[in-house]
Amino acid sequence: MARGLDKHNARIDALNMLGRDLARRSRSKCELCETGSVSLKPLEITPIPEEPELDHTLFICEECRQGIESGKPDQKRWRFLESVIWSETPVIQVAAVRVTRILQQQGVDWAATLMDTVYLSPEIEEWLGLPFTHK
Ligand SMILES: [Zn+2]
Repeated sequence: MARGLDKHNARIDALNMLGRDLARRSRSKCELCETGSVSLKPLEITPIPEEPELDHTLFICEECRQGIESGKPDQKRWRFLESVIWSETPVIQVAAVRVTRILQQQGVDWAATLMDTVYLSPEIEEWLGLPFTHK
C-alpha cells in the first residue's frame, strides 16, 4: 500500500517536472478548449509510458479533464473539437479524436461529420487503436 502510494507520488513529481515544457507548449491555455487564466493540470494519455513524457501528456483545464474522465462530454461545450482536432501536436489530436468518437457514438451530427472529414496519419491511427486514459 505504502509502496503504491510512493510510486504514485513519484509519478506526480515526474509529471510536475514537465510543467515548464507543458506551459510553453500550451502557452498557458488549455490545450483542448483554449481557455486561458485557469488552472491547468497534466493528464496522461494512453498508452502511458514507463516514465511520464511530454508527448503523452496534455495540459488541460478542470472542465476538459472531467469531460474526458467521465466519458460523458457535453456536446455543446465540446464544439471546439471542430478546430482542435486538426492540431499538429499528436497527443492533442489523439485526445480530440477520442472525444469526438464518443460524441459520434452518442449520435451527435457534427461529431459524425468531423470524423468523416478529419485526416489522420498512419501513426495517429495506430495510436488510436488503444483505449483512452488510464484509471
Ligand atoms: Zn479546457
